[in-house]
Amino acid sequence: MAPTKRRVLIVGGQFTGNFSARDLKKHFHVTVVDAKEFFEYTPGVLRAFVKPAHFDALSFTLQPVLERKIGVKFIWGEVLNLDQDAKKATIQPMFSPKGVLDEVGFDYCLLCNGCNFNPMHKWGESLWFPTVHANCRAEGSWAHIDERFIEGRRRHILEEYHKIADLNTGDKTVLVVGAGFIGVELATEIEYFFPEIQLTIIDFLKRCLGPLPDSAAEYCSEYMHAAGIKEFYEQKYSPGDKKFYENIEMPNMADKEYICVGVKSSNYFMNKEVLSDKGPGGGGWIHMNEHLQVEYKPTFVDGNEVRGDVYGDGSIFAVGDCNYGCIGNPKQWVLPPIPKISYPGEEQALHACINIIRKDKLQYGGHGMCTSTKMLKTWWPWGAGMFATSLGPHDACFVMAANDVKGSGYMVNWWLPAAIQKEFIETTKIDECRDGWVGCMIWHFVHHTPMHCWGKGCTQSPQNCCAGRCCFACPNQSSFCGSTCCGT
Ligand SMILES: Cc1cc2nc3c(=O)[nH]c(=O)nc-3n(C[C@H](O)[C@H](O)[C@H](O)COP(=O)(O)OP(=O)(O)OC[C@H]3O[C@@H](n4cnc5c(N)ncnc54)[C@H](O)[C@@H]3O)c2cc1C
Repeated sequence: MAPTKRRVLIVGGQFTGNFSARDLKKHFHVTVVDAKEFFEYTPGVLRAFVKPAHFDALSFTLQPVLERKIGVKFIWGEVLNLDQDAKKATIQPMFSPKGVLDEVGFDYCLLCNGCNFNPMHKWGESLWFPTVHANCRAEGSWAHIDERFIEGRRRHILEEYHKIADLNTGDKTVLVVGAGFIGVELATEIEYFFPEIQLTIIDFLKRCLGPLPDSAAEYCSEYMHAAGIKEFYEQKYSPGDKKFYENIEMPNMADKEYICVGVKSSNYFMNKEVLSDKGPGGGGWIHMNEHLQVEYKPTFVDGNEVRGDVYGDGSIFAVGDCNYGCIGNPKQWVLPPIPKISYPGEEQALHACINIIRKDKLQYGGHGMCTSTKMLKTWWPWGAGMFATSLGPHDACFVMAANDVKGSGYMVNWWLPAAIQKEFIETTKIDECRDGWVGCMIWHFVHHTPMHCWGKGCTQSPQNCCAGRCCFACPNQSSFCGSTCCGT
């Protein structure tokens, strides 16, 4: 007889892993494994480098929250391998000697292991994400600090804070490479807390904030101009090249440089056959299908791309920053690229959780309210078009309704109200991830809603779709139909 509850292994305990643990705990025996002992609210971490006390508000240790509040099992360790046939993960637990490994079996596995940042570094090392993987730590620039511990992370933040503070003498320069939202936020945070530092920001593109609408880019540019941050666009970063530094009015080069140019995959434990050859930072992203099940990478037949089969028996799902973020190719998207931000990651986590429940129902029955066994197709969530860019603590701009078309979306909130909005999101999101009731009340219905407002709209085929009855984006909209694509 099948056991009453199957086992789900979740790799990663941040936004998507935490969300999935809360959603799956009553249906399955859930285990979360994370290479670090703590949760860190990544969108707020830049502030911690200029105001270290802020780190306490952004972080908490995972074990008490996951095990005592949410009610799932937590393993502090790094997943080194995933065996699709035997359905087990090989883990290096934190407190076992190196090479003494644990094997943890699962019936379903949800990959929520995110990514690193800074494609210019071999392993993607950056200040914005703790260095947690064994291979990266060995070759990292701050090997004297172990960021798998919350105290290690705190010490690293303090160390960097002092480096920045020492530059606040009036004659020191800092170069921020990349004027996307991370670069703009970092430059404006440094400028606010250390006004004596001479800041310069550059980008390869024609303006800041990459794909976001002109109105938001102009707003941020105006702020930086007023704050005395020099901006140079259409500049290729050439470290060490005198001519490059002369072009950006830094003839003596910069006293410190921060690289803020994007993401780098860190799916080291996955079979190479499921990892993309292309994509940001040189590829290595997990291919997934419309149900968010991991699939083999595509092959090419007569120059045409042929999608790979589902990996294993379809019990392994990948959501959030770790996956390829799109299905198909620029000639014919099945799912156009989705930004690597937390809202779409959590929306995907919801879709994957629904599919795990439905797959389990099909095989074993049960699951109370769940009436469907048909797998849900994911979509481009409207919330993937929401971006809040802070400009120091008292200014920000908020864009919504952006989609995969460059320049799309509208700046709907700015200045102090947008800064307050960003703080509100930060405080309540962290509370939700801590399983606090205020945060859960506010955020639960953001994803657990039958409505799919707008953005890219529903990508269901007409046969699987509710014919638009629950999608505001669809011309056929009327009332909520409770059909398969609504996620209930
Ligand atoms: C500076 C900055 C600002 C940002 N601002 C915003 C913003 O304003 N709004 C927004 O929506 N998004 C923002 N983002 C993006 C957002 O933080 C990410 O999209 C989000 O964190 C992704 O969540 P995730 O759960 O997919 O992965 P992550 O948050 O990356 O979590 C992955 C977890 O998996 C663990 N892990 C990785 N590999 C292993 C392994 N092998 N074994 C065990 N555990 C492993 C990691 O330790 C980590 O805890 C920002 C990102 C940065 C860097």
